[in-house]
Amino acid sequence: MTNPLFQQIRDRIGTAADQIFLETPGASSLTFADLLAQSARVASALVAHGVSPGDRVAALAEKSPEALLLYLGTIRAGAIFLPLNPAFTDAELAYFLADAVPRLVVCDPARRDSLAEVATKANVAALLTLGADGRGSLTDAAAAASAEFADVARAPDDLAAILYTSGTTGRAKGAMLTHANLASNAESLAALWRLTSSDVLLHALPIYHTHGLFVAVNTLLFAAGRIIFLPRFDADECLRLMPRATVMMGVPTFYTRLLRHEGLTREACAAMRLFVSGSAPLLAESHRDWRERTGHAILERYGMTETNMTTSNPYDGERLAGSVGFPLPGVDLRITEPETAAILPRGEIGVIEVKGPNVFKGYWRNPEKTAAEFRPDGFFITGDLGRIDARGYVHIIGRATDLIITGGENVYPKEVEAEIDGLPGVVESAVVALPHADFGEAVTAFVVRAAGARLSEEDVRAAVERRLAKFKAPKRVIFLDELPRNAMGKVQKNVLRQAHRDLYAPSP
Ligand code: AMP
Repeated sequence: MTNPLFQQIRDRIGTAADQIFLETPGASSLTFADLLAQSARVASALVAHGVSPGDRVAALAEKSPEALLLYLGTIRAGAIFLPLNPAFTDAELAYFLADAVPRLVVCDPARRDSLAEVATKANVAALLTLGADGRGSLTDAAAAASAEFADVARAPDDLAAILYTSGTTGRAKGAMLTHANLASNAESLAALWRLTSSDVLLHALPIYHTHGLFVAVNTLLFAAGRIIFLPRFDADECLRLMPRATVMMGVPTFYTRLLRHEGLTREACAAMRLFVSGSAPLLAESHRDWRERTGHAILERYGMTETNMTTSNPYDGERLAGSVGFPLPGVDLRITEPETAAILPRGEIGVIEVKGPNVFKGYWRNPEKTAAEFRPDGFFITGDLGRIDARGYVHIIGRATDLIITGGENVYPKEVEAEIDGLPGVVESAVVALPHADFGEAVTAFVVRAAGARLSEEDVRAAVERRLAKFKAPKRVIFLDELPRNAMGKVQKNVLRQAHRDLYAPSP
C-alpha cells in the first residue's frame, strides 16, 4: 500500500525535480526537489511531535510556502489536514478544535499564548507556530528534522483532509475528504484544462479553502506546473505578473476588480492561456466584458467543499456565460424535485444532486447530518438549485435555502436579480426573502447603482413588473454602496436578511 495522493504527486513530478514549483515574489523559489525534501522534513517533525496516521493537524496559518509544505507534510505523515481561516477568533476556534480534536495545531506566533488555553481545553497535544514570514517553531522543528521520510501508507478511502464548510447557515460542519476524492479531482481538472509542466498559475486565492488549496495547488502539482504564489489578491500585482503566467484561477470578484483596472488589456493578457472562475456566480455581463477587453472567454466551473469540483465549461467547446458547463468525467449529476426527490426532466429547476469519486465521505462525527444529505442510492444533495439546458449545460439558480416563498408562490432570486442587473445604471443586485406578516416572506431587492445613476426604487419595481409575474417584483428595493461578501466572493445573503429582518415589521 502507498500514500495514494502523495504517490500520484510524486509520479507526476517524475523527472522534473529541478524545475521550479513555487515562486513567491520577494522570496526564494522552491523546486520540486525542494518540495520533496522540505515536506519530508515537515512530516518528520510532525511525527516527532506525536502525530500518528489519522490524526488531525490543524493549520491556522497565513498564506506562505511553509503553510503549503505543512499541507504536503501532513499528507505524507498519513495525517488529516485541517486548514482554518486565520481570521477566526479564539472563540470560533474553540468550536473547531473541540469538534475536530486535532493532535497538533499550528498558529501564528502572535496568537500562541491566547490560543494555548483554548488548545488545552480541546486536548490538543502540541501547539507549534508559523508566521506569515514563514518563521516559527514549526519551521525550526522541520529544519532540524530528517529530509528522509517514508510516506505513510494509506488506503484510497482514508481521509486526507477535513474542511469546514463556509457555514453561512447553521454551525460549520467538517467535510471529510479522502485521498481518492482529492486525487481524482486533480486528475480530471488537470486533463480537462490541459495543464502541463509549461503552465504557470497566478495564485492569489486563500489556501484554507477548497478553491485555493485543492483546485489550484493539487491540479498544478498533478501537471508538474509552476505556481506564482501571492499572499492575497491585488489587481496591480496580478497585472504586473500576468505576462509571466499562463493560467489564473479566481473568484468572480477578482475578475470584476480587474475589469475596473485600466491596465487590463489584450496586451496584458497576451501570455495567458486560461482564466478560470468559481466559488460564486460570475455575472454573464462580466463574462462578456472580459471577452471584449481581453479576447479570452472565462471558463466557469462549479463545485463545493463537499464535492470538490463537479462541473466545468469545456476547454475547446463553447464556454457559455451564466453556465457552469458539464459534469466532470465520472461524475453523475441530476436535478430532483426537492420534496419528492423525483428526477426532473431537462430544463426544469430543482436541487442538484451529485455522485462520483469526487464526493466526500460524510460530515466529521455527524452521521445524522451525513445521512440526511445523501439519498439511499448514494447521491449527495448539494442544496444548490439548478437546471440542465437542452445542450446539457448546467445552470446554477442559487442555494435552495435562498428560495423565496411569498404568498405561497416560489420565487427564485436569480430570476429577479437577472432582470434588475440588466437595467441601465445597475451594477449588481441581491434578492432575498424577508419576513412579512401577510405574505410570509417578501421579495426584497438590494441594489448597487453605478456612479451617478439616478434609478429609483419605483423604477426598479416597475421594470421587474413589466417583465415578470407581479408576485416576483420586489416589495422593497434598498440601495447599497456594495453587497456584503465573504473572502471567497460569495454574497452573504444571510447578512442582508439579518440586518433587515424588521423591514416589514409594523412600527410599534
Ligand atoms: P464552498 O463549499 O465554500 O466552496 O461553497 C460552495 C457553494 O458555492 C456551492 O454550493 C454553490 O452554491 C457556490 N458556487 C460555487 N461555484 C459556483 C459557480 N460557478 N456559480 C454559482 N455558484 C457557485
